[in-house]
Amino acid sequence: MTWHLGGGTLIDGTGVDPVRADVSVDGTRIGAVGSAPRGEAIDVTGLTVLPGLIDGHVHLDVSSDIRASIHGEISVAERAADIFNNCTATLMAGFTTVRDTGGIDDGLVRTIETGRIQGPRILHCGPIICQRGGHGHFQTPFQRVEDLKVEVLGLYGHVLLTDGPDEMRRSAREAFRRGASFLKLCVTGGGVSLTDSLDDTQFQVDEIAAAVAEANARHTYVTVHAHNNEGIRNAIAAGVRCVEHGSRIDDETAELMAANDVALMPTLAVAEKLAEDPVGHGLPPQIGDRVRSVMAGMADAILAARKAGVLVGSGSDLIGPLQDRRGLELVLKAKIIGPMEAIVSATKVNAEILRISDDVGTVETGKRADLIAVDFDPVSEPHLWEDADRVKLVVKAGQIVKDTR
Ligand SMILES: [Zn+2]
Repeated sequence: MTWHLGGGTLIDGTGVDPVRADVSVDGTRIGAVGSAPRGEAIDVTGLTVLPGLIDGHVHLDVSSDIRASIHGEISVAERAADIFNNCTATLMAGFTTVRDTGGIDDGLVRTIETGRIQGPRILHCGPIICQRGGHGHFQTPFQRVEDLKVEVLGLYGHVLLTDGPDEMRRSAREAFRRGASFLKLCVTGGGVSLTDSLDDTQFQVDEIAAAVAEANARHTYVTVHAHNNEGIRNAIAAGVRCVEHGSRIDDETAELMAANDVALMPTLAVAEKLAEDPVGHGLPPQIGDRVRSVMAGMADAILAARKAGVLVGSGSDLIGPLQDRRGLELVLKAKIIGPMEAIVSATKVNAEILRISDDVGTVETGKRADLIAVDFDPVSEPHLWEDADRVKLVVKAGQIVKDTR
């Protein structure tokens, strides 16, 4: 079927200025941009058309109250409902693709792909690979590791506790078995950790290198949760290709990242939300101070990385029940690098980091017809990204999945 979005302003995701242009859709693909619109018109006069947004760092598995989930106070059925609702809300907010950085599996992907629920296209890493007592190992010192309950296969599997290169190989292969298309390791302490510090490094270089070798064998890459420079340098030495958060990156590390073609996925929204209300997320109050320090560093890290020529993506990292403001990442990013660059990071650059830029990320002939239309000016009013109701139209692979024009 051929149709077109007519009468709108186009921001194509490449960073060029907005233009008046129609966008034709042929089946699942973009048929033409700007000239000789084809087929029936969907009138988007007064709206701005953009590529479907990409959230480069999500945790769809953590869609319920975190403490209640850990302590088994809510059922698997309720958690599944929260996950499904989050998937649908994510798509309705204009995010047609997400990269889940731990820990869903192909059960959720298939639930969306077979049309049982509406949601974004998902690339995922399976469970997060972390060391005993490291970031991702969410237990207090008074709980037995043997009692850690983190898996309902087919729905979620949060972490694989892993110590030593041999276990790393096994964990990497297990993540791939569960449908991972890349691997995620934690190589420093984290904002919501219970038994480590943001200054700590985690995993030795030989352990990280074992994961990189497994990823290379699958023709893919390793990304790492990392805040401090020492941990990031360990990861670069081992051959990783992407850093999540990176809140303390200095100029020297940024240059090392650029030289080794390592991307950065900063995550501003989660820090803002957790700092606002850690207890509301089901986390201890002291987590608030930690994430506030992360927040302060992330803006400087983004500027250092961009100056060095590092690809800088866009990820919200939202966790818990309060994920209805996914566009907040663009609001916060716009304050640091400007509204147009914030859009480019969440579209073209994210597609490059996710290695799907042949297919999505910009509005160009031949690319997948993932398109949105918003009723505000993203250049002069970027703060309105926070309000999902302002996203009036969502098209996923040529299918109109939301239309509230
Ligand atoms: Zn995360």
